[in-house]
Amino acid sequence: LCYDCEILALDRQAGFTLQTRQGDFSCDSLVIATGGPSIPRMGSTDFGVQVAKRFGLKSIPFRPALVPFTFPTGFLGDLAGISLEAEVSCNGAVFREQLLITHRGLSGPVILQASSYWSKGDAISIDLLPSLDAADWLRAEQGARPNIWLKTLLSEKLPRRLAQALCEQLFDDGPLQQFQQKRLQETGATLNAWRLVPSGTEGMRTAEVATGGVDTNELSSRTLASRKVPGLYFIGETVDVTGHLGGYSFQWAWASGWCAGQFV
Ligand SMILES: Cc1cc2nc3c(=O)[nH]c(=O)nc-3n(C[C@H](O)[C@H](O)[C@H](O)COP(=O)(O)OP(=O)(O)OC[C@H]3O[C@@H](n4cnc5c(N)ncnc54)[C@H](O)[C@@H]3O)c2cc1C
Repeated sequence: LCYDCEILALDRQAGFTLQTRQGDFSCDSLVIATGGPSIPRMGSTDFGVQVAKRFGLKSIPFRPALVPFTFPTGFLGDLAGISLEAEVSCNGAVFREQLLITHRGLSGPVILQASSYWSKGDAISIDLLPSLDAADWLRAEQGARPNIWLKTLLSEKLPRRLAQALCEQLFDDGPLQQFQQKRLQETGATLNAWRLVPSGTEGMRTAEVATGGVDTNELSSRTLASRKVPGLYFIGETVDVTGHLGGYSFQWAWASGWCAGQFV
């Protein structure tokens, strides 16, 4: 084990040779386990992908994942700190967990999960009432409590400050008896599928993982060895495999490391 050991050059002739700050090394098998580029202040780099490129292997550009979304300043006013259970969809992936409104945008497990499927410009859809068909619910309440105002009704199912902000910024508030069927339908549809386009993410600075990395088609799924360069292995987050929240990235790092270890 060599700690704090910068690699200055890497070459391959009969085997691999590495020039490092702590001397030269040579080996027949080389396992690249340098992770992904998230949270660079912890020492992470895109070294693995650079090595792949150096040997002519394809890779997918790294992108921040499991990361909060940012929105323009003033988005939803001062609702930071509010959290609620929601269902969030992004490019076909659907997650139902806690959502957290932050000073800069949206976070919480459900947002982090969705962010792994998001690219710049994509919309996300948020179901604020995932257990309800909101339009049916509003119609039933209009019959049962025609005088109740939308804001008061929504406060029964959503945090009060959020219900208030939604009624100020998205819906016209008023007693339900004043709502035409079309307006009830549209209000319900927005509550079940609120479409938002994030302006960005918090980036690698806070991303828990990164999507992208060495193209899995370049590697043997049995050994994790490069198909093109005998003896060169890639494991863990350097490879284009991204885990959901819940320990799956650690699991992949350990399992792929164990697997390559059987063959080096
Ligand atoms: C804040 C945070 C929380 C996380 N929480 C979870 C979680 O709860 N569950 C989960 O499953 N995953 C979690 N992850 C993701 C998980 O940590 C990674 O997916 C996993 O550690 C990847 O393992 P790895 O061995 O591929 O790379 P890493 O663990 O990143 O190790 C790579 C090592 O290579 C070193 N390195 C990089 N470049 C060079 C270079 N040029 N020369 C020498 N050394 C280099 C790095 O310093 C690092 O020590 C989290 C990540 C972060 C950042």
